[in-house]
Amino acid sequence: MSEFETYTCDSCNEEFSAHPSSNAAANTYCSPACETDGKGLR
Ligand SMILES: [Zn+2]
Repeated sequence: MSEFETYTCDSCNEEFSAHPSSNAAANTYCSPACETDGKGLR
């Protein structure tokens, strides 16, 4: 019983699984590090 979906990370282009209601799905970043990269907040 899996409700996870596959997304592609906006930063590193890796595919990852996340729950549709999670932050990762909303931002389409596989990790906080990629989210920081993708938003240019380094
Ligand atoms: Zn990533």
